[in-house]
Amino acid sequence: MFPWQLFASAVSIVLVAVLSVSGVVTPQGYYHGMMVFESHVRGVGFEFGGLAVAETQLVYQPQHEYGHYLQEKMLGNMYVPVIGAGSVVGNIALLLRIPLAYKQISTERWADELGGVIGSGYGFVE
Ligand SMILES: [Zn+2]
Repeated sequence: MFPWQLFASAVSIVLVAVLSVSGVVTPQGYYHGMMVFESHVRGVGFEFGGLAVAETQLVYQPQHEYGHYLQEKMLGNMYVPVIGAGSVVGNIALLLRIPLAYKQISTERWADELGGVIGSGYGFVE
């Protein structure tokens, strides 16, 4: 698991550094050990290698990304294919305006459950 985490964190540091220099994100703080960067682009959010980009004014987003952080700890190097697949499907559906809500993607619902979004009054509550 450790080599994967080191690789994921290295990739994420480079990605967040590029986004930071571009003004897309700014450092925000920590959320349960996860480093959080404020996203200045609507709808842009992710977690990779212990670094998360989220719109922090949306209370559920850091919670949701924390759910992904926990998924990454559980799945190790399977995080990208398993969670990434759901994310790609969701984003393609959004771009094509297919009525597939993120809450219908089981891996995204799982992130909400792990992060504490469900039941908090925010996010994918039915
Ligand atoms: Zn997600």
